[in-house]
Amino acid sequence: MKEAMFYKKLKNKKVKCHLCARECEVLEGKTGFCRVRKNINGKLYSLSYEKVISAVPNPIEKKPLYHFAPGSQSFSVASTGCNWRCKYCCNWNISQGEIQGEKISPEELVKMAKEARCEGLSFTFTEPTIFYELSYETAKLAQKAGLYNTWVSNGYTNPEPIKKISPYIDAVTVDFKGSGNAEFLKNFAFVPTSEPIYRALLEWKKQNVHIEITDLLVPKVGDSMRELKQLVRWVKDNLGEETPIHFLRFFPTHLVLDLPETPIETLNKAYNIAKKLGMKYVYTGNVEDEKVNTFCPKCQKLLIKRLWMQTIEYKIKEGKCPFCNQKINIKGEKWIPKSLKVED
Ligand code: SF4
Repeated sequence: MKEAMFYKKLKNKKVKCHLCARECEVLEGKTGFCRVRKNINGKLYSLSYEKVISAVPNPIEKKPLYHFAPGSQSFSVASTGCNWRCKYCCNWNISQGEIQGEKISPEELVKMAKEARCEGLSFTFTEPTIFYELSYETAKLAQKAGLYNTWVSNGYTNPEPIKKISPYIDAVTVDFKGSGNAEFLKNFAFVPTSEPIYRALLEWKKQNVHIEITDLLVPKVGDSMRELKQLVRWVKDNLGEETPIHFLRFFPTHLVLDLPETPIETLNKAYNIAKKLGMKYVYTGNVEDEKVNTFCPKCQKLLIKRLWMQTIEYKIKEGKCPFCNQKINIKGEKWIPKSLKVED
């Protein structure tokens, strides 16, 4: 347990948490919506600090991050709790289950990441915002040790916390669900509005952190192509046409077992729309086809080949296409394993 960052004391031992867009006012003895920030005698505490529920190496492609340190291994850290309540959460047992975890310090996490031969860390599986203090302390130490740090987030973090942690975060994946459709978010994730996600993205961009976007397309309730077009246009206009965007396939899980898997045609439709609107790097995810690979947006040659969420070939040279010299949006090249680089 550690005193929380980003809260204010109010009258009668009440506190207001400013960490995420929910802005909970928490009464003495109670927790906020995320269940892991508790008001104890007028002070807010993070209950998830050093309570680690997951600490495992993962390919960076699983986050998904396709344009950051491809082929690297990312030590993936999570604690319990979440500031959303997605009915379709595939990690619901840790995000919405009992608060638990092993006591592991930031120092130990960095040591474990190095021992596991990972090139960096990812704060992932549950929402890193709600274990901010653990993520912040660990990211600082990891950076000092020469490792990268990434966040996989629902985008509900307030701008100030983003600004504070950004110097230590190299890349972020922000996950949309149902293209940010208001009805869908309200009914399936108990999220009142998607506006804070856009605000957070603008802050990550301002802080110069590499951004990738995912959009989970849920059949019937979160697969409107009209909403999807709006999202893609916003990303293009505000983050740029070079921002990688991934359309993810939904599989029935947790409380949403009565909807089918996303048809491949829906993913292909989304892919084609984003391409037509001018996005340079578009992917489909949770499916195995050509659209998981990276092609040069100018000469269309294959630049990064992936298989089952792992990079197996990497041809980009010093950030450029080796065939036509086109500049490619690729970050974290220093962490790419040498064994991956293909000589022509
Ligand atoms: S981090 Fe938790 S307590 Fe703070 S505003 Fe968000 S949901 Fe509420």
